[in-house]
Amino acid sequence: MKVLYHLKDAGYDAYLVGGGVRDLLLGREPKDFDVVTNATPEQVKATFRNCRLIGRRFRLAHVYFGREIIEVATFRANRPADRDLAHTDKGMILRDNVYGTIKEDALRRDFTINALYYDIRDFSVVDYAGGMQDLQEGVLYLMGDPEIRCREDPVRMLRAARFAARLGFRLHPDTEAPITTLGGLLADVSPARLFEEVLKLFMAGYGVASFERLRQYGLFAQLFPDTEAALVTEEGGFPHTMVLQALKDTDERVREGRPVTPAFLFAVLLWAPVRLRARALEANGLAPYTALQMAAGDLVERQLTRVAIPRRFSMPMREIWVLQSRFRHTKGKRPQRLAAHPRFRAAYDFLLLRARAGEADPVLAEWWIRFQEDGGVPSPPSADEERPTRPRRRRGGRRRRKAAPAE
Ligand code: ATP
Ligand code: MG
Repeated sequence: MKVLYHLKDAGYDAYLVGGGVRDLLLGREPKDFDVVTNATPEQVKATFRNCRLIGRRFRLAHVYFGREIIEVATFRANRPADRDLAHTDKGMILRDNVYGTIKEDALRRDFTINALYYDIRDFSVVDYAGGMQDLQEGVLYLMGDPEIRCREDPVRMLRAARFAARLGFRLHPDTEAPITTLGGLLADVSPARLFEEVLKLFMAGYGVASFERLRQYGLFAQLFPDTEAALVTEEGGFPHTMVLQALKDTDERVREGRPVTPAFLFAVLLWAPVRLRARALEANGLAPYTALQMAAGDLVERQLTRVAIPRRFSMPMREIWVLQSRFRHTKGKRPQRLAAHPRFRAAYDFLLLRARAGEADPVLAEWWIRFQEDGGVPSPPSADEERPTRPRRRRGGRRRRKAAPAE
């Protein structure tokens, strides 16, 4: 409100736009607020003391209120005159930096419900594209020629799935049609941008719905091709159960305001293909631990060409996987050693999730639950179990242990 009034008092037009207006009209709490104005970024900067300009090609103003940032953009247009220069041969937009009128600004947005402008002067909502009606009817309608709009920016397809999931809206048939056929264009989007989209899809409290929509439109296969292949071969089996259970848990945690970590979620999403690959390697004679490490390496390398998982998440993710092969050792000091591992808790949660999905041995999971409940002390071995009194030593065991840093 301060930003809007301040711009208005300085003689400019200023509107709240996008998700802020949409969510307020739906009675939801907006995630962030975007403001648009006819003032240029330099004029915006001159209007506020607490303002910084960002972006090179397209400049935006950030107005600061303590830790809050309100993004103020100048009306933009999608001028046909620039079309030839600003698109790739597949129609993807490269440059998008021409100032325009409010109406032009509205039409270059994605869905009609995202193109509503709240006008501070008379408390009205400006609607150039029928967004109010779509909002009331629960419809997502991609403005303009939907195929061209999907080609310009394939991420709009993911946004369609995301808003459908989050708001419980349906896609207008005109909007749905190109999405079911153009998913492959996501291969041209930068993996870093797709990582951001994946977080919004799966870590914001509506992950189960996102997963279902993405699979419905064939978009999940574009983001996680190896996982999709595993899901298809074991339709209704453990990969499905495990992913859904994890997403459900994550949604619940988000709703309760508890922390969630992308490392765990990616570990779940990619586990089915990692396990398949590890099995194949084991069948070729590799030890389980080595097989898992190699499978993890292969899978991550392939996955990164689609979705750029930053190292701070991919490293713990791999640890969660590789630790799975160590849960089978329940004798001697090995359980305590495993429990002291910084990633033990996440790996343990992962084991329980696997057991719930029917993929890990429930007896083993039970053993570890008891181990945890007993404060990390393994239960006494049964009579027929031999418990080594000293750490086992193979020939040259000491040396070898030192030489294998992963152990
Ligand atoms: P969220 O609640 O997730 O922030 P949002 O609708 O505010 O939803 P933003 O990514 O914050 O989404 O974008 C703000 C606005 O910018 C959108 O409402 C839309 O009008 C416009 N916009 C964002 N991304 C695109 C895009 N890829 N193509 C066209 N318009 C877009
Ligand atoms: Mg937003």
